[in-house]
Amino acid sequence: MAIVPGDSDILLVVDVQNDFCPGGNLAVPGGHEVVPVINALALRFQHVVLTQDWHPAGHQSFASSHSGRKPYETIEVAYGPQILWPDHCIQGSAGAEFHGDLDIPHAALVMRKGFRRAIDSYSAFYENDRKTPTGLGGYLRERGFTRAFIVGLALDFCVRYSAEDARREGFDVVVIEDACRGIDVAGSVAATMKRFTQLGIAAVKAGTIA
Ligand SMILES: [Zn+2]
Repeated sequence: MAIVPGDSDILLVVDVQNDFCPGGNLAVPGGHEVVPVINALALRFQHVVLTQDWHPAGHQSFASSHSGRKPYETIEVAYGPQILWPDHCIQGSAGAEFHGDLDIPHAALVMRKGFRRAIDSYSAFYENDRKTPTGLGGYLRERGFTRAFIVGLALDFCVRYSAEDARREGFDVVVIEDACRGIDVAGSVAATMKRFTQLGIAAVKAGTIA
């Protein structure tokens, strides 16, 4: 059945940035393939918000900030386990820019996250301590949105945690699967889809959005 986005629906486009696309520092396989899908979807939404991973140099989530550590290892930090990543999305760098073909001029807000050196932020709503809000929940409520459609990179990290937090914040949530790509660290894509089912987060294909 077709879904027709209305005035209380927001399209949340997560982290479609050069570093998450092939050739970038933390490339998601096929990451660039979401760009035309998202551009076409965005035309069906009156309201769009973009998120941008936006780290200072020397960010705690970078393996390079911890001597003897390599990317994709997990360490314990103040708020629990943290996967270490290659340096990526450094503020003002070319890698932090949106993919050059992303074309959503009517997006109303760019929500930057991950700018505190000592806290990573996968979710667009809360940083990885699960307590520090980004302000997006308040923005969406004040604007009167009730349903969030979520797309972007990476499915099993920033899209996943944004979707879970949107539910926690009381929004209806729809993830558009073929407008996302995953990194898949140790089965994380399968775990993500299972979690979506448990939480009542709908997963649909772009073709169902009219
Ligand atoms: Zn990051």
